[in-house]
Amino acid sequence: MISLPNSDGCRVLVVDDQRSTRLALTMVLKQAGYTVLEADSATSALEVFQRERPDVVMLDIEMPQHDGYWAASRIRENEVGNWTPIVFVSGMSMELNLWRGVEAGGDDYLVKPVPPVVLLAKMRSIQRQIEMRRQWLFALQELRHANATLSHLSETDGLTGLLNRRGLDRHIEAAIHQAHQRRKPLTLLLCDVDHFKLYNDTLGHQAGDDCLSAIGDVFRSSCQREGQHAGRYGGEEFALVLSDTPKSGAMTFARALMNLLAAQRLPHPKSSTGDWVTISGGITTCIPDEHTSAQGLIQRADEALYVAKGRGRNRFFSYEMRLDTLQK
Ligand SMILES: [Mg+2]
Repeated sequence: MISLPNSDGCRVLVVDDQRSTRLALTMVLKQAGYTVLEADSATSALEVFQRERPDVVMLDIEMPQHDGYWAASRIRENEVGNWTPIVFVSGMSMELNLWRGVEAGGDDYLVKPVPPVVLLAKMRSIQRQIEMRRQWLFALQELRHANATLSHLSETDGLTGLLNRRGLDRHIEAAIHQAHQRRKPLTLLLCDVDHFKLYNDTLGHQAGDDCLSAIGDVFRSSCQREGQHAGRYGGEEFALVLSDTPKSGAMTFARALMNLLAAQRLPHPKSSTGDWVTISGGITTCIPDEHTSAQGLIQRADEALYVAKGRGRNRFFSYEMRLDTLQK
């Protein structure tokens, strides 16, 4: 990361093939409290840069073998996504050199011999730029973090902590795409809590919320594998997206889910289906092709759910197998 804006801890790489010039610059910078690194050629400048990652580079243009433009270009290539200020220091004061320096990735230009006061003023100005960039990067990071949190919240159901409808829709779309690419079976389950209105009417809405929350926990704990996502579609309706899950596997999953819920023994005093809270569900499984849509899957799962209810609830019905979880 970028260092502090005061001279303490600010590391300057001074590159010049002439020892006397290096010494002159180094002396002024050191007296002002800067830490100075030195290099006497473009190639050694690159080595020191990569090893030490200085905060600022003071770069001579005319050097034997590779010149300062070459070094500046290599430095820029070596720090993709980052930016270390480069100041050319040269005896050549022509406008063209300034232009070439900026083109090569330089930020500023000083003409030799550099008066100490000019050098230090330039360093102050560069450090201000570094500090502004640091603050800007920090703000950007905060913004990204806030965006990620918002995006997570916008896809999370407040009551159960599962995905909400929006999150589910996105995961279903992504799962279809992935299963299509890999030619793997994809399963969607839609579930309803049996007689939930009656539950609310009997025990009150707070108990209703607690019940949904407890069911949410069961769903969450059942989705442990990668590619398994649970969500609340709204009201007492839940959905599960199961990647890499064939028809038979989906039936097994549904039975396990019902067993998990049954083990919770959530009392449902008025239910005509049983003493405990139960769920009904519809299952659809396919290997998606280019015609497969989220809407189509949801529709099939919904139709299967309707059949499950018609057959007496407390079961899952598979749209493709035309079987429910109570049948063997
Ligand atoms: Mg030179």
